[in-house]
Amino acid sequence: MTLFGISETNIIETGDREDMTIDSRGTDDHVSLSSNWTIPNLTMSGIESVYIFKKGENRYLVECWGGMTGNYVVTREGIEELGTTLLSNQEPIPSWTIYSRPDELPDWVPSDYHPPDPVECDKCGTEVAVTTILTPMTAEKYEKYCPDCWNDSL
Ligand SMILES: [Zn+2]
Repeated sequence: MTLFGISETNIIETGDREDMTIDSRGTDDHVSLSSNWTIPNLTMSGIESVYIFKKGENRYLVECWGGMTGNYVVTREGIEELGTTLLSNQEPIPSWTIYSRPDELPDWVPSDYHPPDPVECDKCGTEVAVTTILTPMTAEKYEKYCPDCWNDSL
C-alpha cells in the first residue's frame, strides 16, 4: 500500500507514534488535511488527519493521525504526490479539506485546487459547508442533508 500516492523512492524515513511531534502542532507553521467524513451512520476508520511540516527544501514531515497513525519524512516530489492525490480533481463534497497556518496555501498544493463551495441540503435547500453536510448511506440514492434535516429524519 502506498501512502497517499507517495512513491516509495520519495519516502526518506518512516517512524512510529513515539517519534511524533504532536506538541509542536500549535506553534509551528504547518498545514493540516482533515478527512471530510460526511456519513453519519458509518464509523470513520483509517487516517483522520494529516499534519505537514516543512523541514527543509526537500524534506517534509508528514504525521498521520486517527485509526492509523504513523509519520513519514518525504521529499518535495513526495509532498507534491500527496497533494495531487488528496486535492486534485475534487468532488463537490471532497474527501479531504486543507487548512494552512499561516493562512496561505503552500506551493505544493496542485494548481487545480480551489476551496470547496457550500452545498445545498436536498430537503430544505439551505447551503452548508462541505464539512457540515451529511450524506447518509442509503440504498436509494445519493442524499445530502443539513444537520437539522438529518436530525429531523431520525
Ligand atoms: Zn436541510
